[in-house]
Amino acid sequence: MPVPLHSSIIRVMHEASITESILSLALDKAQEAGAKKVRRVNLVLGELSGVVGECLQMYFEVLAQKTIAEDAVLSFEMKPTTLKCRKCAKVFLPPDHNWACPDCHDANVEIIAGRECYMESIEVD
Ligand SMILES: [Zn+2]
Repeated sequence: MPVPLHSSIIRVMHEASITESILSLALDKAQEAGAKKVRRVNLVLGELSGVVGECLQMYFEVLAQKTIAEDAVLSFEMKPTTLKCRKCAKVFLPPDHNWACPDCHDANVEIIAGRECYMESIEVD
């Protein structure tokens, strides 16, 4: 008998665990800085990271309750997919679903940006 796979649940867990890591790192850094309040958390998200910014914000609001980060805003810097041709070394931003090199049309490319998901800095009081 078929067993449905709830891929959306896996997704949700993925984002929730990323949010937990972001929050715990932000709280550590705020404590090191002797901060009373975390105002903003600046994150870098690659287009290919598969992470949805709105989900992170939603989980953050729940997880950060009763911590010094409870009013913090998450700010996202989106990084576009950037590819490099292995044949001619051309670096380019691919149009949708067309990852071939615009110069030599070779499809042997390397992803050099777009998979990022990290915290760049925090702003505290
Ligand atoms: Zn090329």
